[in-house]
Amino acid sequence: MEQLDVAVVGGGQSGLAAAYALRRHGLAPVVLEASDRPAGSWPRYYDSLTLFSPARYSALPGLDFPGDPDRHPHRDEVAAYLERYAAGLDAEVRTGCRVREVSAAGTGFRVTLDDGRELAARAVVGASGSFGRPFRPALPGLESFTGTVLHAGDYRRPEPYAGGRVVIVGAGNSAVQIGAELARHATVTLASRRPVRYARQRILGRDLHFWLGVTGLDTAPLGRFVTVPPTQMVIDDGRYRAAVATGAPDRRPLFTGLDGDKVIWADGTAESVDTLVLATGYRPDLGYLAPLGVLGPAGGPRHRGGAAPARPGLGFVGLEWQRSPSSNSLRGVGRDADRVAGRLARQLGRSD
Ligand SMILES: Cc1cc2nc3c(=O)[nH]c(=O)nc-3n(C[C@H](O)[C@H](O)[C@H](O)COP(=O)(O)OP(=O)(O)OC[C@H]3O[C@@H](n4cnc5c(N)ncnc54)[C@H](O)[C@@H]3O)c2cc1C
Repeated sequence: MEQLDVAVVGGGQSGLAAAYALRRHGLAPVVLEASDRPAGSWPRYYDSLTLFSPARYSALPGLDFPGDPDRHPHRDEVAAYLERYAAGLDAEVRTGCRVREVSAAGTGFRVTLDDGRELAARAVVGASGSFGRPFRPALPGLESFTGTVLHAGDYRRPEPYAGGRVVIVGAGNSAVQIGAELARHATVTLASRRPVRYARQRILGRDLHFWLGVTGLDTAPLGRFVTVPPTQMVIDDGRYRAAVATGAPDRRPLFTGLDGDKVIWADGTAESVDTLVLATGYRPDLGYLAPLGVLGPAGGPRHRGGAAPARPGLGFVGLEWQRSPSSNSLRGVGRDADRVAGRLARQLGRSD
């Protein structure tokens, strides 16, 4: 069986940042990526997506994001940037390698791939993303709704919904961004338990990310106090607030039920709807770690700042609120990766 030093599961920004940090701490990582590109989920996000973080706040350690630092790069530029980052790493990145299972083997691990091959590893980093499992809430009547039901993660472009009636469940960034785009082609309502809350993209002439940095909020170790991630604020340069204010999309309290092709609104009226979009978030997809007994009842990992107390040699990178508000972002993941890599190096007796 091939013996690896550290197996990193996932070749998105989290896995690549982990590999960079592990090298810095003297370890020899191999990144195992299920898809055919080390670009994470970015190629699968919707077509028009541009970053809410300007380029200067969207780089991983060791490689600036190219171009004007104040622009908001497109999804495809992020994917290309990550591929360039992977190519420049002093670490092997294996694409087309989906990890099916990680189990204990002595003081190390056995990593089983989807094709049945087995690898041994002294340490493992779970970096397979926070958005692998779309969350579908229990909405009354959802199972019998006869229209199209789509999770926001499966939305790509507005054209297939042109001229239709669309209801989007949610009030976060994805709900509002997809809603504003779709509303130029269809009649769209945002249905949510709470109103949309906006965070201004620019404050006193500076980008929000500048203020998150100088106030220390971005790196504050608040993760240990967060059991359920707080509701997202919609980062807005003014266009989303204006779109919702003009009713395109309009925003209403969550419907009370679904019946056939109809949505039953809070005032009792029933309306036929073609498409229901669930912009209701995600959960990490870490089922491959189940044999290690490190997952909680909801499938999330039991960890402290990215370390699994129950299993030395196992770390996580890229969890939402892993350590700070920026843990699951391009600008923040490198910091967490460095801590996790340092801890693994100490556990493997190779501290710097
Ligand atoms: C719509 C949207 C917009 C966002 N905008 C921004 C932004 O503007 N700025 C910002 O900083 N952040 C943004 N984020 C947050 C975050 O940066 C991204 O979600 C990013 O993709 C997370 O990177 P990741 O590497 O943790 O996970 P992913 O990008 O999901 O990568 C995980 C990788 O692991 C692989 N994988 C999964 N399971 C396995 C397995 N079992 N075996 C092997 N490989 C596996 C997957 O194929 C994937 O390539 C946004 C997120 C979303 C959803």
